This record gives sequence, structure tokens and C-alpha cells, in this order.
Amino acid sequence: MLSYQHAYHAGNFADVHKHLTLFATIEYLLRKASPVTYIDTHAGRGFYPLSSEETQRLKEYRDGVWPLWEAAQSVSDPLLCSWLDALSRAQRHPDALTHYPGSPWWISQALRAKEQLYGFELHPGEHQHLDDQALAQGVVRIHGDGLQGLCQRLPVATPRVCVLIDPSYERKDEYQVVADTLSVALAKARHAVVLIWYPLLPANNHKVLLEALERSGIRKIWRSELCLRAAETHERGMYGSGMLVINPPWGLDERLAGAMTQLTPLLGAQSRYRASWLVEE
Ligand code: SAM
Repeated sequence: MLSYQHAYHAGNFADVHKHLTLFATIEYLLRKASPVTYIDTHAGRGFYPLSSEETQRLKEYRDGVWPLWEAAQSVSDPLLCSWLDALSRAQRHPDALTHYPGSPWWISQALRAKEQLYGFELHPGEHQHLDDQALAQGVVRIHGDGLQGLCQRLPVATPRVCVLIDPSYERKDEYQVVADTLSVALAKARHAVVLIWYPLLPANNHKVLLEALERSGIRKIWRSELCLRAAETHERGMYGSGMLVINPPWGLDERLAGAMTQLTPLLGAQSRYRASWLVEE
């Protein structure tokens, strides 16, 4: 039973963490001419008007993208500046933040000739929204299960592949399912660059995913976490956002660390960023 709708959370601090990591990763991939196939296993709607009833219900973007957008004039970090430029290109009027783009947009804005994005979405209503979005040519929208679709689609015809796995974790077993899927996927495409998002919740459910990956035999798994609040002071809901990058491009960690030095103070006094290898080479 699918009830999660990302419109309620669009533009929150976890989206900024996830899409900044995705954007920086793609920037590195674009440095080489050889084409990349992108697979977005949990695509969502692709584009979110901030004025929608759903997004206005929680207004989570106010603790996420909004303070960064407001501070744009004083931002000097090169990654944050490029990311904000891209974000302004997604707006109807480049000076007003009225829309927040989802992962299919962040990937599609980088597609080159002969590159494709396969975006999976299982929820029929969300898939209909995705279908209605004006995205770049080369975006293939698939109504179906993204984890099964990923395993079926690998290996791809291009020399490189980049995957985003961004589940809603509505079912507790999804952490284990994601880990199992990664074992199959990496066996089929050992050099795939794979980004996986996970929430940091008081129940620590994400440990199932991290511990399964540590046991999996997969190497080169880099991990970063952006926390709005300290775990000890937080009893309910998501206090932090986690990203794993398997086979991260060289230099990604430093580039993100620079951006986070400027971003975290904008997200509040308790905001913290940390990054390290979960599994080294
Ligand atoms: N990746 C999107 C972004 O960054 O803008 C947000 C995705 S949202 C966190 C998760 C989405 O996955 C929801 O729209 C949900 O309907 C969809 N979903 C849940 N289970 C799925 C599955 N097995 N395959 C594909 N989509 C799924």
C-alpha cells in the first residue's frame, strides 16, 4: 500500500542534501565524454510547485531550500553557486523560488545527446504527475517497481551508469530489500555509481541497510549525513538525512564538504554535516 507523496516534503533539508550530492556527482561524470545511462528507481513527480496544498501543509522547504535561496547573494562556494544557478533555471521567473525540482529534473537537466534517464515510479497518481512534466528528451518514464526494474535493466549499453535509489521506506523491510537489490545490481555492473538516500530516525532503522552493506562484500561505499538536530534531543520524526555513494567520483567528498561548510549554518545552530567511508576500497 503506497501512501507516501513527496509533495508534502518537497525542498526540505533532506532534498537539498540528496540533490546537492546528486548534482555534484553528475558534474564529475560530465567531465568525461563517454555517455552515462541514469536510472532513478523512485522518481516521484519530478517537479513541485511550492504553493500546492500538499507542500503548504508542512512547509518543510522553509527549513531546507528556502534559507539557502535567500542567502544566495552571499554564497561563494562553487558547488552551491552552480546548484543555485540550476535551481533558478527551474523557476518560471529566475528570481523567485516558486518551484522545487525533483530528482528526474536534476538528472534530466544534465543529459547529453545519446544519454537516457529511466525514471521508475510505482504510485499511479505520482506516475501520472511525472508523465505530465515537461522534461528533457531522453527521459523514459516507467510505471513500475524501480528496484526490480534496476536489476532487469543492468547491465546497460553505455560505458557508464549512475543510479539514484530514493525510497520512501514506508515498509520497514525496505532497508533490507535495498541492500539485497544492491548486491544483485553491483554484481551485474561493478563500476556503477550508485547513490542511496536514507532517513535518520530515532528508531535507527537505517542501521539494517548500513550493516547489510558492510557484510555484502561491496567496496568503496562513502557515506554522508546532514542532521538538523542532535539525535539525543530528538524524540519523533526525521532528524537527519543520509546519503551513500558507491564508487564515488574522486574529489566528491571535498567538493561537498566545502558546500556544507556554507550550508549548515543556514539550516540552524544545531545543524551538522559529517562524511566518511562506510566501506573503503
Ligand atoms: N526521488 C524523488 C526526488 O528526489 O525528487 C523523490 C522520491 S520519493 C522519496 C519516493 C517515491 O517512490 C514516491 O513517489 C513513491 O510513490 C515511489 N515508490 C515507492 N515504492 C516504489 C517502488 N518499489 N518503485 C518505484 N517507485 C516507488
